[in-house]
Amino acid sequence: MIDVPNQLFIDGAWLDAADRATMPVHDPATGEVIRHVADAGPKDALLAEDAAVRVQEEWAATAPRVRSEILRRAYEIILSRTDELAALMTAEMGKPLAEARGEVAYAAEFFRWFSEEAVRVDGGYGVLPDGRNRMLLMRRPVGPCLLITPWNFPLAMGTRKIGPAVAAGCTMVLKPAPQTPLSSLALARIMQEAGLPDGVLNVVTTSKAGDVVEPMLRGGRIRKLSFTGSTQVGRLLLAQSADTVVRTSMELGGNAAFIVFDDADLDAAVDGAMTAKMRNMGEACTAANRFFVHRTVAHRFAERLAERMGALVVGPGTRPGVDVGPLIDETGRAKVQELVNDAVQRGAEVLVGGTTPDGPGHFYPPTVLTGVDPDSRLMSTEIFGPVAAILTFDDEDEVVRRSNDTPWGLVGYVFTQQLDRALRVSERLEVGMVGLNTGLVSNPAAPFGGVKQSGLGREGGRVGIEEFLEYKYIAVPV
Ligand code: NAP
Repeated sequence: MIDVPNQLFIDGAWLDAADRATMPVHDPATGEVIRHVADAGPKDALLAEDAAVRVQEEWAATAPRVRSEILRRAYEIILSRTDELAALMTAEMGKPLAEARGEVAYAAEFFRWFSEEAVRVDGGYGVLPDGRNRMLLMRRPVGPCLLITPWNFPLAMGTRKIGPAVAAGCTMVLKPAPQTPLSSLALARIMQEAGLPDGVLNVVTTSKAGDVVEPMLRGGRIRKLSFTGSTQVGRLLLAQSADTVVRTSMELGGNAAFIVFDDADLDAAVDGAMTAKMRNMGEACTAANRFFVHRTVAHRFAERLAERMGALVVGPGTRPGVDVGPLIDETGRAKVQELVNDAVQRGAEVLVGGTTPDGPGHFYPPTVLTGVDPDSRLMSTEIFGPVAAILTFDDEDEVVRRSNDTPWGLVGYVFTQQLDRALRVSERLEVGMVGLNTGLVSNPAAPFGGVKQSGLGREGGRVGIEEFLEYKYIAVPV
């Protein structure tokens, strides 16, 4: 495995936790401990915050081209180490190596994208309506940021935040998920190699998220929180951010509807379903959670999907030919099984999968359920596993209403060959993103994010850097 530091990265130095505490990192395919890393407490977080605050002004004053080239170098280093980084991610998170390689490319692309954006931050000049006053508009970095990431995309969730923060001239403290700290530590080392000055990025791995994060949010020096994770934790962090009016970006949970109309190209719909459901073993915020299939094609769609899902190879992500790795931990797997049991008790039919296998590792088989009762818990809960729950519908208004009947609004998928219907439904879905005849929406050049309780703000695209910039208006009488 790639040699990754197991200490905290603070002010350009690798340090043990002040109390020398460490925490284990497990391989979800075996349950075994693969490494121990430093387990930070509030004292360590304060040191990291001090460093970020101290270098903020100097970092903001660096030439955009300098920041751009650091990101570009980091992009190249990441790509040159694709295999090592992929193996690291598979070891701590479980996804198959081919998917991990895909994530490395996706993660690196955020750095390339934001290296290009760093030099395109513009301001403005305007004559005010009175004809006498002038307006100058400057863009300034928002200030020291706290970045909190989940375990499901250990590298890409980091680069999606670090890229725009570096481009905008912000300093930062990154707190990765405790299940997957190694990818973030590897990333910190790469940023160092790419020439990022000391203190700009600090990485604090911890199993005590609340103790470490809350003082930073309430302390008044952190000016921006960028969080990716569950809606439940997002709400809590929004509340903690309120006292000191910390600016927030929230990339939260989803409950995606996957809609297949009777005129859809069924092959394309099944391909799209495989991507939207099975990417990352279903452990994705963008995962299709509720399949609404027109009654006239539902049977054919379900059979074909079950055939494809049933043919997937489940096993350790390191094994060649494996399509589906383990889920992240036993809690995650038990939740998936409970949701399946609940649906079955309410009358769902299991076409394939549905039972937890014996043996080590947190594996769960690809599962297709039909005849799902709309009151089943998996309709209102992120499944976060390889389970496709299929329901039927009869008309467009009905399916739009049912798709929108959720507090979440991250993404929806629509399969139809009628352009007018495609546009109508895309407009009416209460989501931040729509996959139209595709099961994949994520792209660093596009604004990623949700509406309703799926979040606030966007990551990636032209707007991604905006989240890390403030406007400053200067009034000038002439
Ligand atoms: P999570 O439990 O909300 O945790 C996310 C991060 O928040 C972790 O680093 C976690 O660390 C930390 N955290 C938890 N409680 C905290 C607290 N009180 N104070 C500060 N930090 C705290 O989510 P997860 O299980 O890691 O990830 C899965 C969730 O992320 C799903 O809901 C998924 O939809 C969402 N997600 C959304 C997007 C998106 O872009 N919209 C992308 C990927 C994932 P600890 O584990 O130590 O508590």
